[in-house]
This record gives sequence, C-alpha cells and structure tokens, in this order.
Amino acid sequence: MPRVAIIGAGVAGLCTGIQLKKAGIGQFTIFEKSDGVGGTWRDNSYPGCACDVPSHLYSYSFGINPEWTHKFSPQPEILQYLEHCADKFGLRPHIRTATSIASARFDTTSGTWKLKTDKGEETEAEILISGVGQLNRPAIPAFPGLGDFVGRTFHSARWDHAVDLAGKRVAVVGNGASAIQFIPQIAPEVAQLTIFQRSANWIVPRNDYAYPKWAREMFHEMPFLSRVYRSYLYWMLEKNFMAFIKDHWFGKLFEKAARDHLAAQVPDAALRAKLTPDYTIGCKRILISDDYYPVFSRPNVELVTEPLSRFTAHGIETKDGKSRDFDVVIFATGFETTSFLAPIDIRGLNGRALADAWRDGPEAYMGVTVPGFPNFFLLYGPNTNLGHNSIIFMIEAQVRYVLQCIKEMRNRDLAYLDVKPQALAAFAARVQGELKKRVWAAGCSSWYKTADGHITNNWSGPTIKYWQMLRRPDFSAYDAQARV
Ligand code: NAP
Repeated sequence: MPRVAIIGAGVAGLCTGIQLKKAGIGQFTIFEKSDGVGGTWRDNSYPGCACDVPSHLYSYSFGINPEWTHKFSPQPEILQYLEHCADKFGLRPHIRTATSIASARFDTTSGTWKLKTDKGEETEAEILISGVGQLNRPAIPAFPGLGDFVGRTFHSARWDHAVDLAGKRVAVVGNGASAIQFIPQIAPEVAQLTIFQRSANWIVPRNDYAYPKWAREMFHEMPFLSRVYRSYLYWMLEKNFMAFIKDHWFGKLFEKAARDHLAAQVPDAALRAKLTPDYTIGCKRILISDDYYPVFSRPNVELVTEPLSRFTAHGIETKDGKSRDFDVVIFATGFETTSFLAPIDIRGLNGRALADAWRDGPEAYMGVTVPGFPNFFLLYGPNTNLGHNSIIFMIEAQVRYVLQCIKEMRNRDLAYLDVKPQALAAFAARVQGELKKRVWAAGCSSWYKTADGHITNNWSGPTIKYWQMLRRPDFSAYDAQARV
C-alpha cells in the first residue's frame, strides 16, 4: 500500500484525504503549515469575506450541506463547513498542523519522495500531492519608503484583528475581489478611508439572499433537491464561459450589466469615469458586489487614481506630489500567483529542481503532472483556475484522476508513473492555443499571467470539458517504471 504525503489542509488537501480514505488507502499524512484546516478560508478572515461562487455549488459533491445560510455564505461558515468535513470523514488523525514541507526530493532507487519539514524532520512517501493551490502567498509590492512608514500595515489575507480601525485614517492599496468585500465593512467605522486604485474593475450585481428556514428544512428532508439545485447552479455558471471567449456577444451582455450597475449606483459622472475599466470585461476577474460603489457616496471615502509614488514616515505620496497621512495601510494587493510551489524545494529525477523545469513558466499535463517528477501530483495547479465556475469542481476531478493513477500503480505493482514530456508539450500547446482566443489574453495585466503575458493560471475551456478529459487517465501518456 503506497504512503501518501499531501501538502496543505485546504479544500484540495481535505478532498484528497477523504477520497483516499474512501478508497481504502489509509496511509496518508496531510502537512499543514498553519494551526488548522481550511487553507484560504482560514487565511482570509477580513471583514465581509465570502465566496463569490454560490455555496450550494462551492462545496464538495460528497458533502452536500443543507445548512448554508446565504446564497454566498460568509467565510466563517465556509471554514466551519471544511472543519466539519475534516471531522466527519475522520481526517484529524492524518493532519499534522504547524508543519511546513520545506523540501521534497525523489529518490530513484527506493521510488520514494524524501520530505523535510521546516523543523528539519525527515519523512518519506511513495506519492506526493500538492494541495497548496494558487492563492496562498500574499504579495506586498516593494513600494519605495515602505520601511519608513511608522503606522500599522497588514495584508488583507493576514488581517490584523488586533488593529482597531475605529476613528483611524486608513488607506487601502488595491481594489480587487478582496478589497471590494472589506471596504464596505470598514468604511462606516473609520475616520477617513482612501482607496488607491491602479485599474478599475468590472463589477456586476451580487444579489445575495438568505435561505429561509423552510428552504433549509426542505434541503434537509429532501437531499435530492440540494443536488438538483446544485446542478442548476453549475449549469447557470457554466454557460457564463461564453463571456470569456474573445469577442463573443455574451461578454457584451456582462459589460452592459456592469455599466448599468455602475450608472445606477454612481450618479456622479466624473467618479463614474474613474470607476470605468479600460479593458475587455473578463480579462481580470469579474467582481460581484452591491455595496462597493455606494461607499463612494460617503463623505469619509476618497478614491485616488493617481499612481502611488512612495511611502513616507506618516503616509503615502502620489506621483502628482500630493501627500496623505494615514494611521493604517491595508494591502489588498493580491498574491504571488505565477510561481506556484516556489518556496518548496522540489527535486525530481536526477535532482532536477521544479523551479528549473518551470523556468519558462509553470505547466503541468492536465494541470496535474510534470515530466521528471514521478508520483508527484498538483491540485489546482497551472492552468486550472477559472473565471466562471467552482474551483472545487476542478479539484474533485483532479483528485479522482490522482486516485486512478495510484490504483494503476498498485494494480501493476509499479514503482512510479512519470508523464512523458511530449504528452505535456502537446497538452500545453493545445491549452495555450485556446487561451489566445480567450479574453484573458486581451491586453490587461492580471494575476492569471506572467509579466510577459504568458497565461499560467487559467484553464482554457468549459469545466465540463476538463472533467471529461480527466475522467479516465490515458496511461499511454506516462512512462511506467516497474518495481525492481
Ligand atoms: P487581486 O485581484 O490580485 O487584486 C490586487 C489589487 O492590488 C488590484 O487592484 C491591483 O491593481 C492592486 N495592486 C497590485 N499591485 C499594485 C501596485 N504595485 N500598485 C498599486 N496597486 C497594486 O487580489 P485579491 O483582491 O486578493 O484577489 C485575488 C483573487 O483571490 C481573486 O481574483 C479571486 O480569485 C480570489 N478571491 C476570491 C474571492 C471570492 O469571493 N471567491 C474573494 C477574494 C479573493 P491592478 O488591477 O492594476 O493590478
């Protein structure tokens, strides 16, 4: 029976553990750097944090939850759900919290991955699975003078709950998916809120609602209704993929909805102009919010579009030479997204570093396997992110795929499976070819791509196509090494 090491106890790591248990593969450990499960839903605890995918869909297909309180349930509820799943499926004894994997080296002779934790402990496993995903390392740009600033600073994904924002002069740098969720929450309590916007974002209505008690009871009593509802939500979102095809009429509908939303919520023409994006809708993530634009009608909120030039001891100076003083600066500046597993030193066959294999940009066959890194599987890896549907759907497809690979190795008594370079090359060429026809390639910068425009993060097609591709692994794409 193979031993399995999983990095990360977030949505992907937990999903893997649950499916391994179900498959009777009991020798696995989930290494988690923080002190609990939940991954991104543990890291992000900022006010107003919620998922912008409906909860009945943003959950495991095998963990239907009739109790969701809202269409877009808040972060504490999602974290509670993941903790509940860890308990319900008996994962706790398998999880080692407060333990980071620092390095992983494949030993060809024994066909095992030799792992080292941040504490220097050594362990080994036949199978290594990364569940670290794409959005786990907060990025704070190296603004000139940042070190001189004497006020408090923190990143949205490491919210400092010890900082009392009441009555303070607060700056927010960035206005992406995270910022637009917490800005409406903090605006009423702070003395002054200044939002530094580099690019405007397309925002469409959110239309959240609470599920009444009778609806929750109905989902409880008739679980098949949850399933029907889940399918409905899935297909409603799946159709939105059309909006991400370059020049598709469906994208124009989204643009109209966003423009109407802006016009309805921002009567001031000059302010509206500042809040109107200058790039094709969908190129950056389309945001959903009903309470972000109204924030700008508050007398204590200012939108600054002048580029930020430097930090001073007491605040921020913009390119026009204007200085503003702040007590607190919150960075909602996103994550290191295009280097994937960068902090972990992963070495495959012949000691080759993953960072070296990915010198020209991260890529993986099916988003899951990398040539020269046998028995190593990525979940929510390169080119598997979405703009239109639930990532959990993608993760479940990947976990099913990985389990079939493990079973294949067990059934054929293989030492390892190593994807062929030509299989990855053909896959990557197809994906990159398709991505040229998607709106993400339209001229904008985003966390989906590297500085030179190579799209490393997004999947190029509908999710159903991805699911179909991963349903049955094509083992002819792999070199199978027999056990010696
Ligand atoms: P983000 O979308 O990457 O936004 C970062 C923001 O910081 C952008 O406004 C960006 O401006 C700005 N920024 C970055 N570097 C800057 C610089 N040097 N100077 C000035 N501004 C700078 O990050 P995020 O809001 O944390 O969201 C990241 C992703 O997390 C989302 O796209 C989404 O996938 C996920 N997320 C999901 C939810 C959800 O509801 N499911 C909620 C939050 C986050 P530019 O646009 O000009 O680059």
